Amino acid sequence: CGIVGYFGKRNASDILVDGLRRMEYRGYDSAGVACLHGGKIGVVKNPGKIKALREKVDASGVETLRAATLGIGHTRWATHGPPNEVNAHPHLDASGHFAMVHNGIIENYKQIRAKLAQNGIECISDTDSETLIQLIAYCYKDNLEKAVSEALKKVKGTYGIVVMTDKEPGKLVTARCGSPIVLGLGKEETVIASDASAIIPHTRDAVYLEDFDMAVITADGVQMFDLQHAPINRETTKMDWED
Ligand code: GLU
Repeated sequence: CGIVGYFGKRNASDILVDGLRRMEYRGYDSAGVACLHGGKIGVVKNPGKIKALREKVDASGVETLRAATLGIGHTRWATHGPPNEVNAHPHLDASGHFAMVHNGIIENYKQIRAKLAQNGIECISDTDSETLIQLIAYCYKDNLEKAVSEALKKVKGTYGIVVMTDKEPGKLVTARCGSPIVLGLGKEETVIASDASAIIPHTRDAVYLEDFDMAVITADGVQMFDLQHAPINRETTKMDWED
């Protein structure tokens, strides 16, 4: 339902939880955040309200959440599997090295799940989304955006996703097909969201992804590609919005 990602210099978990709160009006049944710090991913998620998530983040004592300046967050509107903690996003792959938030529906998730099982990879949630991060991890060799495009070529359905891995700690990868993703380009920071309301407190400079676009965010800035890994350019627009 709602996606937010942060790459910058400020505390990621605060910005993520605040972004989720700004998207609450869209409706949701669970929420979660994952942050990357010191080569490790920390996840906190919860069925219920953002307020409960914020309290859980504050009480968690998870160092990766307190110190991280990079992370992803999600409010879920369940389509596959009941709203509970396991089914809430962010989802991790089986190794715990890859994390993803997903909006939309992976229509061929049963086939993907069966293929993964043949390769000894078992999904732990009921969601269609988890199969995608397991597939991305399975496709991974040494480059996250290549693994993401490899996996997305095998997927039928709709997605807005943000992915990160502790194998490449200074990077977020996002992509869309039928589910909106906007990049907010701030000063020394990038905020990714499915909804402008999560970006507007930070910057008005926005790049809207089109279907089958991917964006890679690193300290060097934002690079955009199509699923064949050919570079693409999308113009930056000024968001017009009353606070
Ligand atoms: N299909 C996914 C799920 O059930 C994502 C739902 C959403 O867009 O929030 O977890």
